[in-house]
Amino acid sequence: MNLTQRILIGMGLGLALGVGFQAADLVSNDFIGAYVLDGAIDAGGKIFVTLLKMMVVPLVFVSLVCGATSLGATGSVGRLGGKTIGLYLATTALAVSLALILALVVDPGLSAADEQNGAVAFDAYQAKDAPSVKDTLINIFPSNPIQAMADGKMLQVIVFALLLGLALSRAGDAGSRIAGFFQDLNEVMMKLITMVIQLTPYGVFCLMVKLGATVGWVEIGKVLAYFLTVASALILHGLLVYPTLLRILAGVNPLTFLRKMREPMLVAFSTSSSGATLPVTLRTVEHRIGVNNNVASFAVPLGATINMDGTAIMQGVATVFIAQFFGYQLGVDALLMVILTATLASIGTAAVPGVGLITLTLVLGQVGLPIEGIGLIIGVDRLLDMLRTVVNVTGDGTVATIVANSEGQLDKETLRDPNAGAVAQVPSDT
Ligand code: ASP
Repeated sequence: MNLTQRILIGMGLGLALGVGFQAADLVSNDFIGAYVLDGAIDAGGKIFVTLLKMMVVPLVFVSLVCGATSLGATGSVGRLGGKTIGLYLATTALAVSLALILALVVDPGLSAADEQNGAVAFDAYQAKDAPSVKDTLINIFPSNPIQAMADGKMLQVIVFALLLGLALSRAGDAGSRIAGFFQDLNEVMMKLITMVIQLTPYGVFCLMVKLGATVGWVEIGKVLAYFLTVASALILHGLLVYPTLLRILAGVNPLTFLRKMREPMLVAFSTSSSGATLPVTLRTVEHRIGVNNNVASFAVPLGATINMDGTAIMQGVATVFIAQFFGYQLGVDALLMVILTATLASIGTAAVPGVGLITLTLVLGQVGLPIEGIGLIIGVDRLLDMLRTVVNVTGDGTVATIVANSEGQLDKETLRDPNAGAVAQVPSDT
């Protein structure tokens, strides 16, 4: 059985078991609740996510130093950076626009407000501090790179690795000696993440048991139209927009691409964190899709940090939903403002579970909608977070592939080979 099949089985079994516990009212049972759900299962899920997170800083740093060293030698950093950031912003703006159009057609807020006559119970949402655009900008630059690594500040780590790599490419013999060391270290890191990936079926099993046992399925019924609108926009973007872009801009067969992206997509779904998924995405984009390290090591971590198309989609639909529910009209200027702020908010959204809901306050505030409205949708956000994280991660892979192709850095042989970079059963043969 290949890894994807084993992950799917782990997910299915986990979900079934979790839902079973909830249906049989065993969640608060002394033994099941305390020892199984909050004990072994919780520990298993947390250890898996922690192992993934453990890989993020060392893998991204080492990989990007290697990438920047070879980019420095060709002098194409600026062009690559411009293209990558431009495409990330453009795909996000496209994502919010799609979400707004769909939400304005479906009118999810009107049905919730009318049918239930405003009776959807919700606790007023307490706004937390969302990062401002200015702070986000300043925070890109590290005053202390070691601190940035210790705090997991990815943009700062990216900037330091880029500069270090560029310096290595300009430092003659000394530079090439150190660059050689980083190349070796990069291979070892890739080996390590391959070993962690082998644990995925067990990790997602634990995460899914917990989800099945604790998610409030009833909540979804209350705001079903909203839930379905977000889910449809996410599916449309993932299965229509990205494939079209890949086909037109890179001449890549979208099915081959999506098939290879299955593992990061499943990890994103189970962890709700594009940050934790980053090591898996990076390995897949390089070794399975065939994007050269000098593009992948830059584009993928940057994407995981600033590119959140799925989050922007949720924010677009949520804005329309909340406006309709409270009886506000959104004019064309307000809609344009939503596109702009949701695109910027996506940059400031941390790649961890649930943050999209916090940066939604920025978007709502910008168009004068009541922030308490978030209380309406918070109950179903856990599941939508899983779905939108899949889109966030797929978007990173898509842009990395398109940029690599335009730079002549996409190895189509690797892309076409179904077994390229596949994770083998035995840890020692990658
Ligand atoms: N969970 C999302 C991610 O990590 C962010 C969010 O929308 O909350 O990509």
